Amino acid sequence: MKDAATMASPAALASPDAYADAVATAVRAAAAYYADGSTPLGDDEYDALVRAIEAYEAEHPQQVLPESPTGKVAGGAAVGDVPHSVPMLSLDNVFSAEELESWAAGLERRLGRPVAAWCVEPKLDGLAVAARYRAGRLTQVLTRGDGFAGEDITHAADAVLGLPGRLTEPVDIELRGEVLLTQEQFEHANAVRSEHGATPFAHPRSGAAGTLRAKDRPYRIELTFFAYGAVGLPGLDHGELLDRLAVLGANTAAGTAADPRRCTTLDDVRRRIDAIAALRDALPFGIDGVVVKADALADQEEAGSGSRAPRWAVARKLQAQHKVTRLLGVEWNVGRTGIIAPRAVLEPVVIDGVTVTYATLHNPADIERRGLMIGDQVFVYRAGDVIPRVEAPLVDERTGAEQPIAFPQACPRCGDAIDTSEQRWRCVRGRGCQAVASIVYAAGRDQLDIEGLGGTRAVQLVEARLVADLADLFTLTREQLLTLERMGECR
Ligand SMILES: [Zn+2]
Repeated sequence: MKDAATMASPAALASPDAYADAVATAVRAAAAYYADGSTPLGDDEYDALVRAIEAYEAEHPQQVLPESPTGKVAGGAAVGDVPHSVPMLSLDNVFSAEELESWAAGLERRLGRPVAAWCVEPKLDGLAVAARYRAGRLTQVLTRGDGFAGEDITHAADAVLGLPGRLTEPVDIELRGEVLLTQEQFEHANAVRSEHGATPFAHPRSGAAGTLRAKDRPYRIELTFFAYGAVGLPGLDHGELLDRLAVLGANTAAGTAADPRRCTTLDDVRRRIDAIAALRDALPFGIDGVVVKADALADQEEAGSGSRAPRWAVARKLQAQHKVTRLLGVEWNVGRTGIIAPRAVLEPVVIDGVTVTYATLHNPADIERRGLMIGDQVFVYRAGDVIPRVEAPLVDERTGAEQPIAFPQACPRCGDAIDTSEQRWRCVRGRGCQAVASIVYAAGRDQLDIEGLGGTRAVQLVEARLVADLADLFTLTREQLLTLERMGECR
């Protein structure tokens, strides 16, 4: 688990101008994020920026700009025209074990007693929605919007797994939860979009946002719903509520490796957060934190809510696994079997504590599908031991100075032709490519200095299967060499 010191730390804003710039940047990022899930800033950078803005506003309360994102659900960016039955609030964030501890201490001071029990559950990286049921039938689905009114996305409900059209009982309730693309759904969605000539989604959250809003697409993309709350099921502690939702037929995070758990002490809470964070890379869906809630209804009711967030729940944020950086170039490396693989050279970026300088680009078709250009701002994904990969360019951020990516015309190692008939390009020499290249190199003047052993001859030796690697050069016999074309005896 990363602590506060390794999270992106907000730089202090030194002047009213710097503050105004920071507000403008945050407003722009929040607008993009809530429009289609994209953002010119990574999540960590956005959080750090908002924290810097908050710090400045605490010092200069008379200078607070009305458009400031602080204290607003969705950074004040989201829109919608259907009023919510009960406001859909955000969660306050903490970024370290220490901040979590002081948040919990504050809650217990307010209650005047220890919190009876905590519930710890994954913070799903998707879009919050409200799903209304009448007599057990799904009637309307809304986005969170600004927390008070949301957008009607009922048209998208059919494609959302785990959001039943009919509950197991004829109740009038509203489910609250998150809609996301699982990793598998995300990969499938991008394959389908590529087939239809559409740009791949930059990452699962923007894919989910775009899919929920889209109408009349010629293809279907499935999403998944996870319920974590409800309106209209009174009298239940949080854990009991989740159990009830599952009985009614809604999908919950129960049964996943990050299933919600009741913890009686803050030490248990910390251990569970660490466990979920460690599981993160193996989960079938993205999480961007862990939510800690007071489990008992009595504690929740007594703590109440502020204008933006409930006081009885908090999100312990984890570092983002997607970061935005710049694509500086593409290298073409030839593997042992002759596969020619492109690799992205990136402006170094720290993702989840590791500096990433290179990322995989799979193959040339993949580059074309993603529409990448040199100089693009790109989303890079890294999780655990997985090789970092470039997911998509931020097309809206282009300046016009971006350059097309040059594909090699000849094998970058031996100079022979490239077989482009498959998705993965390959040197026509296959495994022989490396042998030819290494023999020519070894025979060079600065190495073994073998006269007459240039490219053509090396190719002959390899093709005649006389030489597979460097060591074979030393055991070649005169008779073997005489079998080669144009290799006569000296007279
Ligand atoms: Zn080659």
